[in-house]
Amino acid sequence: MAVRRIRTLGDPVLRQRALAVADFDAPLRRLVADLSETLADADGAGLAAPQIGVGLRVFVYRVLDEASPAFGTIRHLVNPVLVEQAESQIEDEEGCLSIPGVSYPLARPERVVASGFDCHGEPLRVEGTERLARCIAHETDHLDGVLFIDRLDTERRTLREIRELVLDGEMVRVRVSPHQPLM
Ligand SMILES: [Zn+2]
Repeated sequence: MAVRRIRTLGDPVLRQRALAVADFDAPLRRLVADLSETLADADGAGLAAPQIGVGLRVFVYRVLDEASPAFGTIRHLVNPVLVEQAESQIEDEEGCLSIPGVSYPLARPERVVASGFDCHGEPLRVEGTERLARCIAHETDHLDGVLFIDRLDTERRTLREIRELVLDGEMVRVRVSPHQPLM
């Protein structure tokens, strides 16, 4: 296992649609282990394979766990599909390990159900509400090259457009209020 470098905004891998996992083999289990270790190291809520430069449909996420109340437990999902999304939405602060230092309120379904597989190819079904629902939706978006800033309203999206001006994969930090006109 290894802590891998987390790719940040401007890295093209974050904008590519990830491929479905076909082989539930040892390299997949290593990928899940690396994702888990990298998520733990970053103290995040979730991490998708493209965020460590791997274009496969896999993510890990952290759930509360009474056995480990301080940190919780990291679980994974391979080839996830959102099979149910509640119409009712909750707005909450959302961020991303690939866009450090930025968070915005964003509405997401208050409940989602995802189906997929574990790293041995066994079918899994995950139901999440509130923060977990948000996390599952956010990580599934990553597998389609979608970032949470894409889902912000138009006013806040101007910030995204500025931030997408990147050189050599380096994120350009531009301090602009999301409520301020550009010109
Ligand atoms: Zn993210």
